[in-house]
Amino acid sequence: AKKAGPGTVCFFEQADDKASRDRKALQADLEGAIARDELFLVFQPFLDLDGNRITGFEALLRWQHPQRGLIPPSEFIGIAEETGLIHEIGEWVIRRACMTLADWPVDIRVAVNFSAAQFHNAGILQTIVQALADARVEPHRLEIEITESMLLSKYGSAASILNALLQLGATVALDDFGTGFSSLTYLRKLPFSRIKIDQSFIRDMLVQPDCAAIVKSVISLARDLRIGVVAEGVETADQLEYLRQFNCDEVQGYLISRPVPADGVLALLDTKQVR
Ligand code: C2E
Ligand code: CA
Ligand code: CA
Ligand code: CA
Repeated sequence: AKKAGPGTVCFFEQADDKASRDRKALQADLEGAIARDELFLVFQPFLDLDGNRITGFEALLRWQHPQRGLIPPSEFIGIAEETGLIHEIGEWVIRRACMTLADWPVDIRVAVNFSAAQFHNAGILQTIVQALADARVEPHRLEIEITESMLLSKYGSAASILNALLQLGATVALDDFGTGFSSLTYLRKLPFSRIKIDQSFIRDMLVQPDCAAIVKSVISLARDLRIGVVAEGVETADQLEYLRQFNCDEVQGYLISRPVPADGVLALLDTKQVR
């Protein structure tokens, strides 16, 4: 092992200290973020490839920090999960997503991302039922997105909440498909309405033939299972062309639209819907 020079240890300790102080500060700020109205949602469309029309939007969380500016979810969802704040934030997201959806045309859906902790919270069903009722939104217009890793622990309770959601009329999508380890088992055992092929596959599809083969197979698997399939992270016209050839249902990505604020949704529907 390399011998650390004098001062090295001290340097790393300071760096660590700073990181942890930073994190604590962010955590303290996050606690009041909802009350101060600093959280907001942006919405990214799903484009159906048959009809060339927008079939819904995924709600993505943002934090407008008064000093640090716009903070992406990758920088604060983890903190929210560790501190338990995710329950309050998650409830806010569902309620806001349903309220926003209430202004959209009736045949499109909103998809909301879930954290594992939320999914294992006993009160979650009641929260969803209440959010739908308060916004007067029909349950089938709400989709919950979960990842495979969330199913790894407490599989039993996850399955029962999943089934209860379906009973309610909501739908569940399997997000980041292909990045976990037991995808196929879950597909066989749980009633997903849709799978979302992870963007890493779409990104490498045109440069790695193996990757294209996987994407093609996943799409045909979804078709055989009679569930929907979305390709995430579509950035180029070439990728879109391939996905059309493979008969993919829906695509999502910067090529179609970046996520837009709530007040941009109706305008986007106007420009993309009529073709
Ligand atoms: P995700 O659910 O897989 O969302 C897709 C992410 O990819 C989003 O990042 C989106 O802005 C980005 N994206 C969309 N199209 C493209 C593209 O063409 N190219 C590239 N490079 N990226 C694209 P975002 O909004 O930063 O969200 C990151 C992750 O944070 C999400 O990944 C999701 O896991 C989590 N997240 C977002 N909102 C929420 C929320 O309300 N609750 C929870 N629990 N997690 C959330
Ligand atoms: Ca998602
Ligand atoms: Ca994803
Ligand atoms: Ca279709």
